[in-house]
Amino acid sequence: MQLKVLGSAGSVTPEGQTCSFLIGERTVFEMGSAASVLSTAEQRRVDDVFLTHAHLDHVKDLAFLAENVFGGRDAPVNVHGLPATLAVLANHILNGAVWPDFTALPSPETPTLRYAPIEPGRTIEAGGVRVTAIEVNHPGGCVAYVLDSGSGALVLCGDTGPTEALWEFVNQAGAKVRGIMIETSFPDRLRALADVSGHLTPALLAAELRKLDRPDIPVHIHHIKAPTRSETLAELAALGDERVRVLEPGTVLEF
Ligand SMILES: [Zn+2]
Ligand SMILES: [Zn+2]
Repeated sequence: MQLKVLGSAGSVTPEGQTCSFLIGERTVFEMGSAASVLSTAEQRRVDDVFLTHAHLDHVKDLAFLAENVFGGRDAPVNVHGLPATLAVLANHILNGAVWPDFTALPSPETPTLRYAPIEPGRTIEAGGVRVTAIEVNHPGGCVAYVLDSGSGALVLCGDTGPTEALWEFVNQAGAKVRGIMIETSFPDRLRALADVSGHLTPALLAAELRKLDRPDIPVHIHHIKAPTRSETLAELAALGDERVRVLEPGTVLEF
């Protein structure tokens, strides 16, 4: 199976789109940029969307994808997320005030979107991939996803501060896990901001990777905040960890 990076930034600027990752043709993880990058025809092929949490940089393009696929599909798009994440969407974004409630349009019987609550630790199948959510440490509730194609697995961790269960899972899963995607939002000088907002800096990332028993595994970094991007990139390079690389739009990962 292939994962294609549509957007990998932590900020919206002319230079970068926020995170979205396309699996095959029918599944998208994170809705930071899917409607901005995929054609309308490509968006109409998406059957399942997985959200890590409700922050705007991770959900904003769901609003626009719903509008773009409206009337163009036979079945609703399943929107998978924690119950708390879906409640934020329903109450604060797709609420008929900020944006239409596409879970009831064009009719409640044949909606454009359908909420599909997930339960951490329980595996579901979507688009030929087995998907399992693992809770991570980020305000409001947030999950990472393990994507298992049968021949290999990828760990997709969006926003998180220091965490434990994720590394326990990867260590137990062994060689099946082919790669880890994880954030590094801020440079080390903004450590206090990272701590209060549940994010990582390069030094915090290095501490996380010391919990990992895999000296061989690629660690793909995303969600770098634009105003301090060059500083964060320099600190990531200075870690001297050959596993660490930065995800760019258009990159394809096989698993
Ligand atoms: Zn967040
Ligand atoms: Zn974010």
